[in-house]
Amino acid sequence: MFTKASVIEIKTLLDARPKCAIVMHRGPDGDAIGSSLGWHHILRKQGIDSTVIAPDAYPDFLKWMPGNEGVMVFEKNREKVAEVINEADLIFCLDFNSPDRMGNLKDTVIEAHKPMVVVDHHRQPADFAQSYYVDDTASSAAEMIYRLNKALGWKKHLDHNAAICLYTGIVTDTGSFRFSSVSPKLMRIASRLMETGMDHTEVYRNVFDSQSVSRLKLQGFAISEKLEVMEDAAAAFISLTQEELQRFNYQKGDTEGLVNQALSIRGINMAAFFSEKDGLIKISFRSRGSFDVNTFARNHFEGGGHSMAAGGKSELAMNETLDKFRKLVSENAESIKASV
Ligand code: 5GP
Ligand code: MN
Repeated sequence: MFTKASVIEIKTLLDARPKCAIVMHRGPDGDAIGSSLGWHHILRKQGIDSTVIAPDAYPDFLKWMPGNEGVMVFEKNREKVAEVINEADLIFCLDFNSPDRMGNLKDTVIEAHKPMVVVDHHRQPADFAQSYYVDDTASSAAEMIYRLNKALGWKKHLDHNAAICLYTGIVTDTGSFRFSSVSPKLMRIASRLMETGMDHTEVYRNVFDSQSVSRLKLQGFAISEKLEVMEDAAAAFISLTQEELQRFNYQKGDTEGLVNQALSIRGINMAAFFSEKDGLIKISFRSRGSFDVNTFARNHFEGGGHSMAAGGKSELAMNETLDKFRKLVSENAESIKASV
C-alpha cells in the first residue's frame, strides 16, 4: 500500500531535478505504455527530463500515443538504452513489481545500481527499489500515476497529452471499464481526464478498431478450432502453436483478448490462453470470482499477477503443458466451480 512517507520520499527525489528513465515490463500492454508516457508528460511539465524504455517491441495499436516516437526499445538498441540507464539519476519502474518482469533489460537496470521507484498495482512487490507507490486495489498503473501526480500537488498541470496516455492505460487494463477493479474513485479520475479535452472515442478507435484482416482470421480460427471447454471444471482454454500463429502472419498483439473470449462462455469461471514462441509457452490466466489465478500461476507456471488476471510460462512442449494444465484444473475443479 502507498503511504504518505513514500510520496514525501518521491518528492524529495524529484526536487533534485533528476534525469529520469522510465521502464516497464516486457511484452508491454496499454497500461505499461500509457502509464509510462503519461508520467513522461507529467515530468516534462515540471521541467524534469525523462526517457521511456520498453524491454521489447509492442503492438502497433499502442504506437499512436503522444510521445511514442521517443520510446526506446531495448531489444532494438541495447547500447543506447544502456547509455540512458547509466546516465539516469533515478529510475521509475511502472506496471510491474519484480525485476524478472523486465526480461533481458533486467541486468542492465539492476547492475546500474540507481535509485528506483516502483509505481504499480500488482500484488506482492519484490524488495528491489528505494520507494514504492503501490496499491493492489488500483485498476491500473495509469490510475496510480494519476494519484501520484495529485499527491505531489501537480494536479493543475495535468495536460491533454498526459490525459490521453493515462486514459488509454485505464481503458485497456479495465477491459473498457468493466472489471471489478473499477471503482467510483476511478470513474472520478476518468472524468478529470476527460475534462482536459481529450477525445476518448479516439482512444477506442486507435486501440480496438484497428485490426488487420489476418488478426481477425486468427481470432476466428482460435475460437472455432482451438477452444477446449472443460465443462465439469468450469474452465476453458485456447492454445496456439508457433506454426499456427505463423500461418496467420502473427504480429504482436494479435492474440490479445482471446483469453477473455474463453472466459465469456456462460458457466465458465476460469480461462487460459497458451501461445508458443521459440520453444517457450507463454500463458495468460483469467478468473471470475474467488479462484485465485495469481496463486495458481505462481505455484505451477512460474508467474503471477492479480487474483483475476495473471500470467506465467512453461518450458515443456505444448502438449505436455496442456496435459499439466488439464490435470491441475481437474484437481482444482471444485474450487473453480465454486468461484463466483
Ligand atoms: P497477460 O495475461 O495480460 O499477459 O497478464 C495478465 C496479468 O498477469 C498482468 O497484470 C501481468 O502483469 C501479469 N503477468 C503476466 N505474465 C506474468 C509473468 O510471467 N509473471 C508475473 N509475475 N506476472 C505476469
Ligand atoms: Mn497494469
